[in-house]
Amino acid sequence: MIGFFRTTSLRLKLVLISFVVEAVMLTLLVANSVWLIDNVLDEQARLQMKMLGPLLNVSLAGPLADGDIASARQILAEVRAKERLAYVELFNDKGEILAGAEPSAASHYESWVTIEQEGKSYGRLRLGISTDFLAAAKQKLFLESSVIAVAEVLLSLLLFLGLGFWLTRNLKELTDAGKAVAGGNYAVRVQVVSSDEVGRLSTTFNAMAEAVQNQVKSLKEGEAKFRAIADYSYDWELWADPTGKVVWVNPSVQRLTGYSPQECLEMQGFPAAIVHPEDSDRFREGSRRILDNKTTSGSGFEFRVLRKDGISFWAAADWQPIYGARGEHLGVRGSIHDITERKQAELKILATVQQLEQAQQYQQRYYAQAQEERARFNSLLNAMDLGILFVGNQNSTAYYNPAFLRVWELPADTQLAGTSTDELLATLEKQLARSADYTQHVHEIIQTKESSHNYELTLVDGRMLLETSYPVPGADGRYMGRLWLFKDVTQERRTADQIIYLAERDALTGLYNRHRFQEELTRMLADAGRRNSAMGLLFFDLDEFKVINDTYGHRAGDSVLIRVAAEVGTQVRRNEIFSRLGGDEFAILVPDVREDELQVLAERVVHSIPQIPFHFEGHNLRLTTSLGIAVFPDHAQNAEELIAHADAAMYQAKEAGKNAWRIYAQQSDTSRQMLTRITWNERIRSALRNNLLYLDFQGVYRADDGRLSHIEALVRMKDEENLGNIVMPVSFIPLAEKSGAILEIDRWVIGQCIALLATSGKVPPISVNISARSFDDPKLPHYISDELRRLDVNPKRLIVELTETSAVADLHDAQRFIEALHQAGCRVCLDDFGSGFSSFAYLKHLQVDIVKIDGMFIRNLPNDSDNQVFVRAIVDVARGMRKITVAESVEDKETLEMLKGFGVDMLQGYYLEKPHADHVAITHIGTAV
Ligand code: C2E
Ligand code: MG
Ligand code: MG
Repeated sequence: MIGFFRTTSLRLKLVLISFVVEAVMLTLLVANSVWLIDNVLDEQARLQMKMLGPLLNVSLAGPLADGDIASARQILAEVRAKERLAYVELFNDKGEILAGAEPSAASHYESWVTIEQEGKSYGRLRLGISTDFLAAAKQKLFLESSVIAVAEVLLSLLLFLGLGFWLTRNLKELTDAGKAVAGGNYAVRVQVVSSDEVGRLSTTFNAMAEAVQNQVKSLKEGEAKFRAIADYSYDWELWADPTGKVVWVNPSVQRLTGYSPQECLEMQGFPAAIVHPEDSDRFREGSRRILDNKTTSGSGFEFRVLRKDGISFWAAADWQPIYGARGEHLGVRGSIHDITERKQAELKILATVQQLEQAQQYQQRYYAQAQEERARFNSLLNAMDLGILFVGNQNSTAYYNPAFLRVWELPADTQLAGTSTDELLATLEKQLARSADYTQHVHEIIQTKESSHNYELTLVDGRMLLETSYPVPGADGRYMGRLWLFKDVTQERRTADQIIYLAERDALTGLYNRHRFQEELTRMLADAGRRNSAMGLLFFDLDEFKVINDTYGHRAGDSVLIRVAAEVGTQVRRNEIFSRLGGDEFAILVPDVREDELQVLAERVVHSIPQIPFHFEGHNLRLTTSLGIAVFPDHAQNAEELIAHADAAMYQAKEAGKNAWRIYAQQSDTSRQMLTRITWNERIRSALRNNLLYLDFQGVYRADDGRLSHIEALVRMKDEENLGNIVMPVSFIPLAEKSGAILEIDRWVIGQCIALLATSGKVPPISVNISARSFDDPKLPHYISDELRRLDVNPKRLIVELTETSAVADLHDAQRFIEALHQAGCRVCLDDFGSGFSSFAYLKHLQVDIVKIDGMFIRNLPNDSDNQVFVRAIVDVARGMRKITVAESVEDKETLEMLKGFGVDMLQGYYLEKPHADHVAITHIGTAV
């Protein structure tokens, strides 16, 4: 019912209500009319009864009292008819019905009347007045009233309907307009037809509709803007509700992550689900805090996102809490942007910063190291004996160490920093023996901007300084200045002088040796040739010296040689070169001389020697000498000739009876012996040409197992005149060395030996002897390596022997030569060790592989304790230096055993085998030289 009312239209409601009200009112009216009529008719019946009662009492009391029942009935019938009584019944006082009539009407009004007379009751009368007329009247009234009421209701219904329609027709329009507005048609308006309430309502509605329309329009615009901003915002925007569930995400998410907004919204746990696993925990923790903290916005929360394609990128999120209109918390708006580039830049910066930090650490470390280095360097510079001076590129002194002041003997407090080169030179000048030369040298060096070669300068106090200088380039390669080094080499030079002295001197007499003689001869000849002057050569030996040696022993011979050297030395001027060439052979080189002056000298020498008294084994002895003179350029054009002619002149003097001197004379040079002496050079060359040289081989055996280690090649020469006559090397090698023919001999021997080695791999290694003169031949090492390569011989199979004396005589050349031989792959043996200066220091300087102890220590070893000590020492030192030792001239078993006991590695000598041309190690394999 209520629902019906809610849903029915206002108009119908009005009509229904009016109808109901009308009906109720009319019903009430009709009912009232009926009731009124009813009351009136009822009153009328009661009045009729009231009047009829006494009348009947009077009429009936009499008959009854008389017992006349018939009359009574009569009367009753009449009354009934007359009074339109419905019924009438008469009862006696005993209650018995006396008369009665059936009710003639359906409804009636009943009344009882007591029949009495004079106080005496005769009975009772029940009578009923018919009320049918009343009912008919009522019905009629009712009917009429109803008709009227219905008519009125219908009329008023019509009226209400019309009125309602008229009243609500605008409301309907309003309702439709309202529905249209509700349906989104905000443009709808209602017509205002009256100024009554409905009219005002319409006006208000229109105003409201317009307001709504405007609001909706601006809302739409706002929303469009918002959408435009949100959807087309470059960043990935999202809205997460308070539980963290993302309820909206803008399309940018697809560009950034590869997932569409739809996919994102459907994704479980988005966006944490696409956060890089390494950042995932941090992200969840961070987002939880952001959601929990409902008041604060923030920015710069960084994390990595895993794109749909699996590639990750760095993102940063800004966020704000979102509130509804009533201030309720709706969640969080997040704005996420790709910061990969920035992150990369940051990471790069970070890396750069780290690198910088590391660089700084390095720098600090390097700085500390540099400081330490510098401290060490400074203490080194301060401690060192080398004078160091650094002059900057403006030629001003930048640094010098204490040794610089010491070397130059300047006071320790001398201040040189900032001084110019000229000022510095002026300070140093006082110390210099030849200051002008040095100043010039310094200026020349400064011009070049290159390293300077060693420059030796002599100070006024006799000390010698070795100066070297280097340009110092800066880090950019530009010239920063020059470093000058000054070394006090006084002591070194003295030692070197000593070594040179030793190398140039004959150990026994202290005179110049053959090496120096040869050098001086060459120099003087060149000098004389240049100056067009003459120079002389005096050759002399002691007559019968061999007898002294043989008779009184070597010691006696040695003392003779020493005395002779000393005596003749007094005759010789400082510019003359007095040498012992070997044995008892002496020579004097006299520069810039006339023949008569030479004769005077010769005379003095020849005369002085017999003056020397010798006492041997109780005998007084006098010795004589034979001396030959040759003059350049009168007698010879070169060194070879000059030597040969002086030699010849000496023999001429001997021929003349000894104790005499002779000037070389061509015509006297006739004897065969002289001829051969003069023409050694030619003889050797002819021997080489005519195959008159040949080789003997002597085995060198291992001391431990007695097996052959290698064989030594020893050259021999067949006498041209008498082929059966063999010339031993001792006879022609010294002459060949004098003449230079030795170079060809050495090459021939090497060539032969390499060829022999090439014949078979079974040929044992061969050692060859090389003369000191060959050191001067720079091509010899090349020749050796070329030959080895050409004939495909392992260089290790060739051993080169150099005599100690020759090596020491020209240490520098020997070192170079040894180095070249090593580079060629050959082994090097230092021969006759101990015959020269016996200094172990040379072993250090000469990088040889094998040391062969000179035969003079071996030959009488068991009987000579000095030699034993010496040999033992050599073996120890050589072993310490990892060199192999060989003992030569092993002539007996006792020596051999002793040498084995000393630990000598290899042995050679007649006891083992004599040299043979057809050595078993070669013939055995069917080859011959
Ligand atoms: P060396 O190189 O010291 O040779 C050893 C010398 O001692 C050889 O004399 C050898 O026959 C000899 N000998 C070997 N065993 C004994 C022994 O048990 N007792 C004695 N007393 N002597 C022994 P050789 O052949 O007369 O050679 C003498 C020197 O001539 C060699 O001394 C070497 O310096 C030189 N020489 C030999 N052949 C050549 C050569 O082809 N070129 C050059 N430049 N010099 C050579
Ligand atoms: Mg040798
Ligand atoms: Mg030797």
